[in-house]
Amino acid sequence: MSRPRIVIVGAGFAGYRAARTLSRLTRHQADITLLNPTDYFLYLPLLPQVAAGILEPRRVTVSLSGTLPHVRLVLGEADSIDFDGRTVHYTGPEGDGGTLSYDRLVLAAGSVNKLLPIPGVAEHAHGFRSLPEALYLRDHVTRQVELAADTDEPARCQARCTFVVVGAGYTGTEVAAHGQLFTDAQVRKHPLRAGMRPRWMLLDIADRVLPELDERLGRTADEVLRRRGVEVRMGTSVKEATHDGVLLTDGEFVPSRTLVWCVGVRPDPLAAALELPLERGRLLVDPHLRVPGRDELFAAGDAAAVPDLEKPGSYTPMTAQHAWRQGKTVAHNVAASLGMGERRAYRHRDLGFVVDLGGVKAAANPLGVHLSGAVAGAVTRGYHLAAMPGNRVRVAADWVLDAVLPRQAVQLGLVRSWSVPLDTASPELVRMPGDPDRAEEPAKTGDAPAEGRGEDRASDPVRDPDAVKHPEPPGPVKRPERPAEREEKAQHRKKSAHATSRKGTHEHR
Ligand SMILES: Cc1cc2nc3c(=O)[nH]c(=O)nc-3n(C[C@H](O)[C@H](O)[C@H](O)COP(=O)(O)OP(=O)(O)OC[C@H]3O[C@@H](n4cnc5c(N)ncnc54)[C@H](O)[C@@H]3O)c2cc1C
Repeated sequence: MSRPRIVIVGAGFAGYRAARTLSRLTRHQADITLLNPTDYFLYLPLLPQVAAGILEPRRVTVSLSGTLPHVRLVLGEADSIDFDGRTVHYTGPEGDGGTLSYDRLVLAAGSVNKLLPIPGVAEHAHGFRSLPEALYLRDHVTRQVELAADTDEPARCQARCTFVVVGAGYTGTEVAAHGQLFTDAQVRKHPLRAGMRPRWMLLDIADRVLPELDERLGRTADEVLRRRGVEVRMGTSVKEATHDGVLLTDGEFVPSRTLVWCVGVRPDPLAAALELPLERGRLLVDPHLRVPGRDELFAAGDAAAVPDLEKPGSYTPMTAQHAWRQGKTVAHNVAASLGMGERRAYRHRDLGFVVDLGGVKAAANPLGVHLSGAVAGAVTRGYHLAAMPGNRVRVAADWVLDAVLPRQAVQLGLVRSWSVPLDTASPELVRMPGDPDRAEEPAKTGDAPAEGRGEDRASDPVRDPDAVKHPEPPGPVKRPERPAEREEKAQHRKKSAHATSRKGTHEHR
């Protein structure tokens, strides 16, 4: 065989590690291509720190071409795969497309925000699994506090300064913990009327915080959150989301302009579109991470249902810890399938969890040892620095700066509400003007766009009924959605709504 062609779809924890390991294992004997919509690997666990203004957004990214010199980077999203012809078709960032031929294919497209069929949520909530969403939240929260400080009406002030986070898994817990500290610091500088304090609420239908992690971690997080003033409301979720607030399942209506949706993720829709065997939306693979019956096809990470050999009968959870290690295993097995080395089964026991609660606090159980307070905080930061595949010095520098300087609470207004919809197959991409899916957005608000006004930049057209709406920015149409993709999304939405209504459970992240 001439130089084998290996294509990896997705450069997250699994895909990035697979590319890096294959690059080493094949020693230039294979052509490795990494297909990803962005030119960076995103270290998701530090995203709450981006939203809270501790880390600048680029800190949590690692350049793909800068760190994988022997891997060809193709910018784009896979939209169809011809298994018989062994080709992947993709769409690039400017709407152009291409085809990649492969001898071995690794699918590592990760996951996207999970929707539940609750009225108003798709329109009024925002997810939290990408850099644009974190940037949006950072700006939005900053803006709400600034606008609240400027209003004389207590009710309006209260609504702007009430932030509702749904899902008390590690993402929601960290967002609420950091959020309360962030807004308290802002209010210290610009007090609200009548001494009002920003109100953060953390909701979950489960009966405790961090329901999928060790109970002691949940207890620690719960104590820290409550002491800080976060309203922890377990056994409660959202019945309806509206423009003006959130109706809870216990009947209370909470006036608010912010609903952060952290109830979980679902596998990337690409997995479902391939018509291969699935397990709850994830591609079913064997313990060698190979798709049964397809010797040339492998999958890893959140998008793959990998048998958990440590817990027979179950599949490995959707965590970075597993995805990162599966990336290495899949690389070895792809190389072995090309005659380089031995294949191995995927086996990994959880090494514990770290949950960053902001300030110096965290909850952690490395190797089963339960830690809390500042010790856990130090272990958590040390863990993240060790786990990041790059940019460590910059991250550490931001932490030092944050410890000695007041945090910068300014909103740049670069990511708008409509450009980060909750229901999207591509959370990592900002929706651009002219995107067909976006055309319906202004209609939702019922407002006509204003023309070229400076204050538009400080308003949020979808979430903020009081604000002057911003005009649709002029400019070229970028990455128009392909008919096939729209069709696939529409089908997926139908399936997803059906599946979630049948399942009715949360996966907590
Ligand atoms: C805020 C947050 C905090 C988290 N914290 C932790 C934590 O502390 N510990 C932990 O263990 N886990 C954590 N997780 C979960 C963890 O990040 C995921 O389990 C992990 O990212 C999964 O890795 P992956 O490689 O499967 O997918 P991802 O890391 O999501 O990567 C998937 C990649 O595929 C790309 N992609 C998607 N579709 C396509 C396509 N069609 N074509 C090409 N490329 C595509 C995406 O752009 C992305 O780059 C967290 C998740 C979030 C959202």
